[in-house]
Amino acid sequence: VPVHELVLGGAAARGSHPALVDGTTGQTIGYAELAGMVDRFAAGLAEAGLARGDVIALHSPNTILFPVVLLGASRAGVVVTTLNALSTAQEIAEQLTDARARWLVTVSALLPTAEEAAARAGVEQVWVCDTEDGHRSVRELLASTAEPPEVDVDLDEDLFVLPYSSGTTGRPKGVMLTHRSVGTNSNQVLRSWSRVTGDDRVLGVLPFFHIFGMCILLNYLRVGGTLVVLPRFEVDSFLSALAEYRITRLYAVPPIVLALAKHPAVDSYDLSSLREVLSAAAPLDPRLGEACARRIGTRVVQGYGMTELSPCSHLVADDVAGPVPGSVGTLVAGTQARLVDPVTGADVATGDVGELWIRGPQVMKGYFGRPEDTAAMIDADGWLHTGDLARVDADGYFFIVDRVKELIKYRGYQVPPAELEAVLLAHPEIADAAVVGCYDDNGDEVPKAFVVPSPGRTLDADAVMAYVAGKVAPYKKVRRVEFVDVIPRAASGKILRRELRERPAG
Ligand code: ATP
Ligand code: MG
Repeated sequence: VPVHELVLGGAAARGSHPALVDGTTGQTIGYAELAGMVDRFAAGLAEAGLARGDVIALHSPNTILFPVVLLGASRAGVVVTTLNALSTAQEIAEQLTDARARWLVTVSALLPTAEEAAARAGVEQVWVCDTEDGHRSVRELLASTAEPPEVDVDLDEDLFVLPYSSGTTGRPKGVMLTHRSVGTNSNQVLRSWSRVTGDDRVLGVLPFFHIFGMCILLNYLRVGGTLVVLPRFEVDSFLSALAEYRITRLYAVPPIVLALAKHPAVDSYDLSSLREVLSAAAPLDPRLGEACARRIGTRVVQGYGMTELSPCSHLVADDVAGPVPGSVGTLVAGTQARLVDPVTGADVATGDVGELWIRGPQVMKGYFGRPEDTAAMIDADGWLHTGDLARVDADGYFFIVDRVKELIKYRGYQVPPAELEAVLLAHPEIADAAVVGCYDDNGDEVPKAFVVPSPGRTLDADAVMAYVAGKVAPYKKVRRVEFVDVIPRAASGKILRRELRERPAG
């Protein structure tokens, strides 16, 4: 069935059970109401002239209306391309053009940027979710009295959503995810999460525009759980929402795990309702995971995925006893993996590191309008080349090492920056850190660390280098250190290494 039906099929029967709660105002949408809003939004879109295959862009922080737009569009056969709420007008205009979006749906706080972008990209109409005055309002669409359109969805061909990859390694690319790939991945994920039920309460704090946040949104609505929606991650509101709403499972990215492990405010909240923390999207140092687990008394696990995988290929299943430190878990149902030597293309021996290739029903249809990029990513046999290095143990647990492209090539050796970042983060006086390659006076690429000292501490660059040198092989030594106030990160928690590499040396 199409994704909107898969997700909302049981909604009407759930009556007023809360589906979405605005974590700031407490405003709640119950399941039956959600199903009605989705129908009316679909009807409103059709009445306004949109039809199967049209694309609209959604430019919004997390709100309780976000899933109404996403699923209502799907119900009308319309494809949503999701935009990062923090994007500039230029970035938005590029995506609008690339995705051939007909409309831009935004919120009033972002309207000036949205209108500028829409004008540049020649988008027909701008709609606003949370206002009526003088603008086309989503509320008008929700007031539609028409019947929702009957759309004959082709599950394998029609897109459910057109998200863009994060742009960590190059230009963001539109990822074509069909109803089949997203729906199947939901089945795969829920097979692993065998203990998730409609009694679970989760935070919608990871951005819904990114595939990880969207995956949580769709799967918890599908099982009838409650999502408490926060517009951004900010320590105090985050911790108070965790405690106030008795959140049962937390989906996080490494900076959130870092806050739970190290932030002094954590001890003032009752987090006893939490049963599991799952981190994904970027490397998590196992020691940090363990520190978080110890402090808040819950299991901390990782998962692995990418936009191109709808998004998930690896999870630690609910019925596994231990947390498996450092591992992203095992393959989800119906998924195959190979670990391949990036140079020879041969499979590596068990336990050795190779590039992770994935094959399964959750692999994307392709990049939108970029057949060459698609061909470079998915080979003739259907294997998706992830660009990530990994190893697997005898029990089938995978460990992500780093991205192939991020490896620092020091005199013929390959240094994974994530490993050095983990060493730095374990230092008690370091609050945050990032490592990138830079060129020294001999023209060698060497690891350079950007370090944020803990509040009130001053550190010495030589001492930091000596500390790392005491813990890693000599060729992996950090050879430059720069102190900074903050590590730049994407909304999905990834370190913006390109930005660090392009900074003038400080
Ligand atoms: P782009 O493809 O545009 O360069 P991106 O790869 O960062 O950007 P996403 O699809 O958001 O875009 O992220 C997928 C990537 O996130 C994976 O390829 C992997 O590098 C990283 N990742 C996901 N989960 C984990 C994890 N548990 N540990 C380490 N890295 C992870
Ligand atoms: Mg990628």
